[in-house]
Formats: sequence, structure tokens, C-alpha cells
Amino acid sequence: MTDTAPHRRARAEIDLGALRANVRSLRARLAPRVRIMAVVKADAYGHGAERCARAALDAGADWLGTATPQEALALRAAGITGVPVMCWLWTPGDPWDQGIEAGLDMSVSGRWALDEVTAAARRTGGTARIQLKADTGLGRNGCQPADWPALVAAALEAEKAGLVKVTGLWSHFACADEPGHPSIAAQLDVFRSMLDHAEKAGIEPEVRHIANSPATLTLPEAHFDLVRPGIAVYGVSPSPELGTSAELGLRPVMTLKASVALVKEVPPGHGVSYGHHYVTGGETTLGLIPVGYADGVPRHASGRGPVLVDGTVRTVAGRVAMDQFVVDLGGDRPAPGTEAVLFGSAERGEPTAEDWAVAADTIAYEIVTRIGARVPRVYLGE
Ligand SMILES: *Cc1c(COP(=O)(O)O)cnc(C)c1O
Repeated sequence: MTDTAPHRRARAEIDLGALRANVRSLRARLAPRVRIMAVVKADAYGHGAERCARAALDAGADWLGTATPQEALALRAAGITGVPVMCWLWTPGDPWDQGIEAGLDMSVSGRWALDEVTAAARRTGGTARIQLKADTGLGRNGCQPADWPALVAAALEAEKAGLVKVTGLWSHFACADEPGHPSIAAQLDVFRSMLDHAEKAGIEPEVRHIANSPATLTLPEAHFDLVRPGIAVYGVSPSPELGTSAELGLRPVMTLKASVALVKEVPPGHGVSYGHHYVTGGETTLGLIPVGYADGVPRHASGRGPVLVDGTVRTVAGRVAMDQFVVDLGGDRPAPGTEAVLFGSAERGEPTAEDWAVAADTIAYEIVTRIGARVPRVYLGE
């Protein structure tokens, strides 16, 4: 029998069956020729990169995507080979040599990166798979339209010299989670013209792509050859404006649970937790939930975050501390050890990561991604 002791305080259950269902649900929205890159950066948004990557591939994802080269190399080191892996957040001095040897698709946004990757190709004798990133309006990473012709020309030179193969042309949206935002159409126009320039110059990409989860879900004209969903793979809605995860045909993958550590009666007027921002109204019972901001429970949700205890949704009473917080149980006396669900599936009557995002004035991406290393992940449906 598995020793469940390490999981009693808190656990993040990761439902890989739900993850596979989400990938299939996304697939069903796409034209058959459109490939899916499952984005597994930041340890698969806190869900566990290796297991989630394997589950996504099982369910029909064609590519994997990460931010850093270290994340991509870790997938290869875990034995995930024979599938393209792209990473896009390079910093000068990063491991281009290893990237070439691991067959990664490496994003290039500017000259310094092209210079480093071609030097690495000379050193290793390999051909680097690179993808040129266009800044079509996000104003973050990527090559500005004015600098694009020079970057494309330099990449073609490097291709002729056998140092690189330009496998992709790509970009990223600023406001895809706000359907109808004028920047969406503007970015698509710029993307099409930057693609057109590169292809006329002689680049023959395997894939052209710009769609994140919201664009995958709402914007078929942005699908091109490949889509790059992240948050949707984990069954979380990209934004309240797009609907709940259920309305989007997705199932939350992470359920964050803790065990009630103490239940006690307190008199009226009793201050609760640091700063006494909550004071009991009458005689009541308090439940101690043994997770805090060190576990990724946002302190900004103090006084607001929802927790399901024994069939009733309670609210964080007072401040979330580093390791624990309190809920007012209103006189109920669940046994110590009773399961408390911070977030999971609305279909099961549980609060959601989206609810915690509202409580903490942030986005659900941040809620799941910040669940800390002290919370063991328990995998279901492997
Ligand atoms: C994180 C990320 C994605 C995935 O975004 P979601 O909104 O989670 O789908 C796609 N592309 C890039 C470049 C990213 O950084």
C-alpha cells in the first residue's frame, strides 16, 4: 500500500484522464491538418511536466512547448524523444549546443540569438532547428517588423551554410483572451505580411503558428499549421470572458486538497489570524487548514478564498499565513482530518482555480502555477 502520510497535510491531485480529455476536446475543434503543441512550461503550469507531457502526447498532441531551454532539455533527459520540442525563452549564454544535440526547436527573436546558435552549430557540427519569432504587436519578445527583413536574410545565409534549418515562423497574441479586441485582427495582418515576406525570401517553414489557448478556443483563422494551448490543456478557462471551463468543454486537471488540522469552539468577538482582520460574530467553530502562501495559497485571497469543507463552501477567515489559514465553520464540527478542497471542479461542487483568481485579484494561470513544491502531486488516471 502507498504511504499516504506525506499527502495528508495537503496534496494536489492531478487527473491525467482529464488532461487527456482536454487534449481530445481541443483536437475536435481543429481542422485535421492543424497540429497541437501542448505547452508544458513552468512544470506544466505546476502540474508536473514529464507526466503531463506524456499524457498530452498519448491523447494526440504532436509537439511540446516550453519557455526555457532547461525545461525542454529536461523533457529529453526524461526520455521524451521522437517528438518535436520547442522552447522560446533564450538568454545569452544559454545551452545552444545541447539544444542542437537534443534536436530542440529553438526560437530566435534577434541577431544575438542567431549569432549564438550559428556559433553552436559550427562547434557541434550539427544543424540547429530554429524558429523565427515575429513581434506582431505584443511588444514583448520577437523581432519587430522593421528588423524582420535583416533577420530573415541572415537566417537564410545560415541555412545555406548548413548551420540552421528554419523550421517555423511564429508569433504571440497580446489580447486573444478579449474576443473582438482590435489588436487581434491587427496582429493577424502583421503576422500574415511577415510570413509573406519570409516565404518570398525563400524560407520554407514546417509550421506557422500564433494561437495560445484563447485563440485556439475562439479564433479558427489564427490556427495556421499549429496551435499552442497551455492553460486549456490543464482544464482552466483562460479568462472569465470566455466562459467557465465546463462551457469550454474542458475538465480541471488539478484539485488542491488539504486535511482539516484542528476544529475548535471559540467565543464571540475572537480575533482570527495575524492582524485580527476577522473577528467572530458569535460563538462559533473554527477549522484550521494547514496550507498557506508558502504552498502557493495567495495571501491576497485573505478574507475571500473559498474552501469546501464537509459539503459547505467556507471562506478564508482573516489572513492567509505562510503555512496555514482558518475558516469559520459556523458551529459545525467536522472531524479533524476531514478533507478540505480549495479548488477543483465546479461540476463536483468544488470551488475552482478561477474562483481563487477572483478572490486574489489575479488570473487562474497564476493560481495553479504557483502551487508550491511543498505540496505533493498525486497522479490519477496514469
Ligand atoms: C505560455 C505560452 C503559451 C500558452 O499560453 P496559454 O494562454 O496558456 O494557452 C503559448 N505560447 C507562448 C509563447 C507562451 O509563452
